[in-house]
Amino acid sequence: MSGKVGLVTGGTRGIGRAISEMLASNICGTVISLYKSDEEAAIKWMKSLPRVISEKITIFKLDVSSNEATEAIEKLILMHGRIDVLINNAGITRNGPFLSCSKEMWDVVIDVNLSALHRITRPILKSMINNNYGRIINISSVNGQRGQANEVNYSTTKAGVIGFTKALAKEVAANNVTVNCVSPGYIQTELTDTLGQEEIENILSNVPIKRLGTPFEVARSIEFLAHEDAGFITGADISINGGLYM
Ligand code: NDP
Repeated sequence: MSGKVGLVTGGTRGIGRAISEMLASNICGTVISLYKSDEEAAIKWMKSLPRVISEKITIFKLDVSSNEATEAIEKLILMHGRIDVLINNAGITRNGPFLSCSKEMWDVVIDVNLSALHRITRPILKSMINNNYGRIINISSVNGQRGQANEVNYSTTKAGVIGFTKALAKEVAANNVTVNCVSPGYIQTELTDTLGQEEIENILSNVPIKRLGTPFEVARSIEFLAHEDAGFITGADISINGGLYM
């Protein structure tokens, strides 16, 4: 069995949940799945899993936008000895026309989607460099690749995730740490549930595959990048968008 330790931010819901399950099934002996607030839902999810998967998953409460996040991650590294696979998945939207985008709507999205990369990645990278092994995978978005009206704050952060990925990939390649990102299109989760029916139909009219993606499909691409055998892939941005943007 693999002794690798994985950590997934926002790992108990939506895409993060599928990633946690995939890592526990195929890549890691231990998966630390972080959640922000809803402990009850996280426990319910754990209980719904087959034992062979749930026994590899540990849930832990951590708000990636909090000042204590870095310290909490350092404690987790001490507890588990190492972290080999990091998935920076937590993300939020606060959509609306840019002229209605308040400072609060701007700051909170930057903080959770972008500044958290600094808080979470640095302590883990230190441990990866010490172990001369690491797989870091960040979740960007099609809207970071192409820009999206009424999502200037979100698109800004997701474009930033791609820049972060490429720059860090170059910096740590010699340490046997790969850094990649995936850019999903529209995936069926609570995040897209907030969109109206008309908006979804509008989106699908531009998706050649004519459906939303599934969290499982995103998790599969991450499984590939997280595997030991993917050591020659770094700085990549994989699109998973049903052909919406190529
Ligand atoms: P969901 O809204 O379903 O889940 C968001 C996740 O982020 C939850 O696990 C949530 O944790 C976590 N989260 C939010 N804020 C914080 C915080 N402050 N600290 C810690 N965790 C936090 O979204 P998705 O699963 O759809 O999205 C996952 C990622 O994929 C995001 O980065 C998103 O931008 C990206 N993405 C999603 C697309 C889609 O169509 N769904 C398309 C492109 C990219 P908790 O449950 O504890 O609140």
